[in-house]
Amino acid sequence: MANLPDVERETLELDVVIVGGGPAGLATAYHLAALVRKHNETSDQKIDPPAIGLLEKGKEIGSHGFSGAVMDPRGIAELIPDWRERDCPIEGPSDTDEVWYLTEKKKIKTPWAPPVLQQHGNYVVSLSQFVRWMGDLVAAEGVDVFPEFPASQILLEDGRVAGVRTADKGIDKNGQPKGNFEPGVDIRAKVTVLAEGPRGTLTKQLATELDLYAGKNPQVYSVGVKELWQLPDDRFPAGNVIHTLGFPLDMQTFGGGFIYGMKDNIVDVGLVVGLDYRNPTLDPHHEFQRMKTHPAIRELLAGGKMIEAGAKAIPEGGYFAMPKLFGNGFLITGDSGGFLNPARLKGIHLAIKSGMMAAEAAFRALLSGDASEATLAQYGAAFEESWAKEEMWKQRNFHQGFHGGLIAGMVNAGLGMVTGGRGFGVANRLSNEPGHTRMERIQRYFSSETPKPPEKLRFDNEYLFDKVTDVYYGGVVHEENQPAHLLIHDTEICITRCTVEFGNPCFHFCPANVYEPRETEDGRGKVPFLNFTNCFHCKTCDIMDPYQIITWVPPEGGGGPNYKKT
Ligand code: SF4
Repeated sequence: MANLPDVERETLELDVVIVGGGPAGLATAYHLAALVRKHNETSDQKIDPPAIGLLEKGKEIGSHGFSGAVMDPRGIAELIPDWRERDCPIEGPSDTDEVWYLTEKKKIKTPWAPPVLQQHGNYVVSLSQFVRWMGDLVAAEGVDVFPEFPASQILLEDGRVAGVRTADKGIDKNGQPKGNFEPGVDIRAKVTVLAEGPRGTLTKQLATELDLYAGKNPQVYSVGVKELWQLPDDRFPAGNVIHTLGFPLDMQTFGGGFIYGMKDNIVDVGLVVGLDYRNPTLDPHHEFQRMKTHPAIRELLAGGKMIEAGAKAIPEGGYFAMPKLFGNGFLITGDSGGFLNPARLKGIHLAIKSGMMAAEAAFRALLSGDASEATLAQYGAAFEESWAKEEMWKQRNFHQGFHGGLIAGMVNAGLGMVTGGRGFGVANRLSNEPGHTRMERIQRYFSSETPKPPEKLRFDNEYLFDKVTDVYYGGVVHEENQPAHLLIHDTEICITRCTVEFGNPCFHFCPANVYEPRETEDGRGKVPFLNFTNCFHCKTCDIMDPYQIITWVPPEGGGGPNYKKT
């Protein structure tokens, strides 16, 4: 939510403020508190326990936690060596790793999974439960955790990050303060750690202000849409992992499906769609529902009941699409920093490792009293020497290879395995463009490729679900009397250009039906009506809008999904 101008605000002074209660932010908080504790146990030069605050925009830690997820335990084992003894919630060890290639009616099981999709030693987890568990450990370490506190603005002073401003509460839909108005607080800190997840609001602000992507590839994303199903029996045991390729996506669109077994006969089924697709009418939620029409998926889910749903973006650009991760007074971690291995579709272990390295740099800053770039650069140096860099380097050109379609991407991925990640190119680095620039104009796409958009499914809301029903099953709630948190900077473009050129893709790509077509009163075209209270906070609109005129900003604290098992 945009903050009201000219409002008197309180200031809170902290040593370290962490924005985001996902694995990266929680790992930063936990490791930093532990480093200080250990230092004070062993050193003669004790330091005062630092004031560490962690801000989370969701109702509680975990309510916005959303991922597949099959976790590589390397990160958590390094952060908390006795993680299994401390009752870390896991669904099951994943010793299976099937890959299916799907045509519309048939399934071809590959004889073996490529090495990047081999799962032995990994664990199926519910990210929302996993981060709830981490949140309790962090609070026990003395960190102040503030749920329902979205950070809306970076405090930048002479090129140095001085902290963050939290969003105002209690503003009505016309932008006027209500009776319960509470101005956001300026939280000033020596070190600000951004761990906001993909396409973070403050990370985006800072990247623009300080040109953090200079010399880098632009970050590219996918969106994952999924549902959890309660099955009537144990036909798909906890820990089972299947990845799918092919149907429902065409050969030009990056992505694939996943099916993960959880405890209590729950199965986690979803589809990842690259947000660099060409078809302007592509609808990731609809594609996911189409995936469920495949006979193999129908058979798996037969007799089951959908119990939870949601959507979230995934940063897929890899090593070359990571922003500059540090500067005066700030560190960027986790998905916000692009810490994800796109070939393995895994980021939790990298997010945790990034949080640990950020904590070590912040600790040094606290010890020395110097949080300048020179000190915090230790984070970048540690990353370059770490197993996280080594892993990401091997997949540095993975996503770029798919710009030529599925076959080219697979060939590039295969070449990457034998060239240590180089892939097609003679140079080490393949470039790419921002995903939204690959969307084609509607006339061109449908005259040259496909005569018309695919037929829409009929949703029975028992097996195939419409978007609004999935929103309900994501527990999505927002205060209705507040300004919309999707800012469309120029609706004239929607009416006069986008309708003609792209057919208003926001009506299609949003998995929550937030953008609803309305004719303008003067009949000039269509403009989106914003059902903003449906929003999953997936960030697809901010990423994929072809004119880049949509900005997602945090709504009032506590709003959004309320995931329990995702
Ligand atoms: Fe995702 Fe944007 Fe739709 Fe919200 S409005 S669900 S962020 S696409």
